[in-house]
Amino acid sequence: KKASIGVTGLAVMGRNLARNLARHGHTVALHNRSEQRTRDLVEQFGDEGEFIPTYSAQEFVDALERPRKLVIMVKAGAPTDAVIEEFAPLLEEGDVIVDAGNAHFADTRRREAALRERGLHFVGTGVSGGEEGALHGPSIMPGGSKESYESLGPLFESISAKVDGDPCCTHIGPDGAGHFVKMVHNGIEYSDMQLIAESFDLLRGALGYEPGQIAEVFRTWNTGRLDSYLIEITAEVLAHTDAATGKPFVDIVTDQAEQKGTGRWTVQIGLDLGVPISGIAEAVFARSLSGSADLRAASRGLPGPTRAPLTGAAAETFADDVERALYASKIVAYAQGFNQIQAGGAEYGWDIDLGALAAIWRGGCIIRAKFLDDIRAAYAAEPGLPTLLTAGDFRKAVEDAQDAWRSVISTAVRLGIPTPGFSTALAYYDGLRAERLPAALVQGQRDFFGAHTYRRVDREGSFHTRWAEDGRPEAGA
Ligand code: NDP
Repeated sequence: KKASIGVTGLAVMGRNLARNLARHGHTVALHNRSEQRTRDLVEQFGDEGEFIPTYSAQEFVDALERPRKLVIMVKAGAPTDAVIEEFAPLLEEGDVIVDAGNAHFADTRRREAALRERGLHFVGTGVSGGEEGALHGPSIMPGGSKESYESLGPLFESISAKVDGDPCCTHIGPDGAGHFVKMVHNGIEYSDMQLIAESFDLLRGALGYEPGQIAEVFRTWNTGRLDSYLIEITAEVLAHTDAATGKPFVDIVTDQAEQKGTGRWTVQIGLDLGVPISGIAEAVFARSLSGSADLRAASRGLPGPTRAPLTGAAAETFADDVERALYASKIVAYAQGFNQIQAGGAEYGWDIDLGALAAIWRGGCIIRAKFLDDIRAAYAAEPGLPTLLTAGDFRKAVEDAQDAWRSVISTAVRLGIPTPGFSTALAYYDGLRAERLPAALVQGQRDFFGAHTYRRVDREGSFHTRWAEDGRPEAGA
């Protein structure tokens, strides 16, 4: 018997994906550079389904039914190229190579084009949900040709997370589309985490709550519109006590957030595309600032207000206000991320269905949330929606949040609590809705020092003023 699919790269992600496939009745060929991982998998989990362990590239390829479908789940970057080069020469026209690692979408576009020349399908696939997701049902974002999805789709849909019976897997679009949306997913995840972390800091700094009390606040929020995996795990982390010291866990952890790079990629691409994803950018910068140990040590004595907790009526409404501000800021974060996907789709010629994308993020992935169902519904009602902010329920939520959003940020400013995520979200919101922006003045400055020209509100054409001479429009303009 041949395998319906193969997995090469059997570290934690590949192993769990292979087990998930086997548990769903698929026969899975196994391969890994070092043989031990393959042996371990069969030894420990061989009874979960049908596995065909193989110990050479040729043996692996021979074990697959045609068209062959092989999933590469190795360290992203050069290792992925090395593994593609190992297998591609052994494959035949119509076979499908899936890269389920965290590749940069530009690499995926390059690999797809090269393999297409050789008659092979290359499917860069975003997989979210970490190792638990890979085993129990991830959110799966395959790019590549439509044709490849015909054979891969049923396999991937069978192992993906399900929400209301719908699989959290859909064909995203050609070549790098899958890895692109996975990248933005991670960017949104950065943004969401930062906003939640700021909420914690606000509740602690302005109300003097202990982490355990804040865990309770988050648990309550998790029963409402903020219901999400990230809020849920935040409550658990905050409620956790360090066994060695008896202190809240969050107080014994070094306050320097690390990053593996997908948030940074999202911001870099956002800059290239000219999309203002300020929420994601601030989240990445907030991690960088937290990690700048020397800079922080040198700055610790700088003057600023002391954090005196609120009292009276202000204290009573504050937690509710933070919930409103968090929800409004979260809408901005997702609006920015979805706009980046729109822009990427336009730039690279992908026809991405944003509603379908929101639907597959409802389960399996890190940003899974009730909220994504509302985003799905918003795009279903208006596929060409320019920004999520104008969609019915979201518009109403930001309207309801106006006082709270502004007062929470004012309080933060007054008490010296840094809220880059909340603040940039509100600035973006006010920027979008402004009748006139000071960008007009920037155009004047640019024309003054660089003769960069400007357009007028009342006439077509481009204009330049003779600033150094008579201050009049250039002749003929
Ligand atoms: P790692 O990223 O740690 O990669 C280890 C695997 O890559 C091993 O199987 C290793 O083989 C193989 N490998 C490394 N270099 C080479 C090479 N030059 N040639 C052949 N094989 C090589 O494994 P993970 O399981 O953590 O992640 C796999 C992929 O999934 C990565 O791209 C990661 O970014 C992505 N991912 C990870 C998530 C997570 O939560 N960990 C979530 C979503 C995606 P050997 O055993 O021989 O060393």
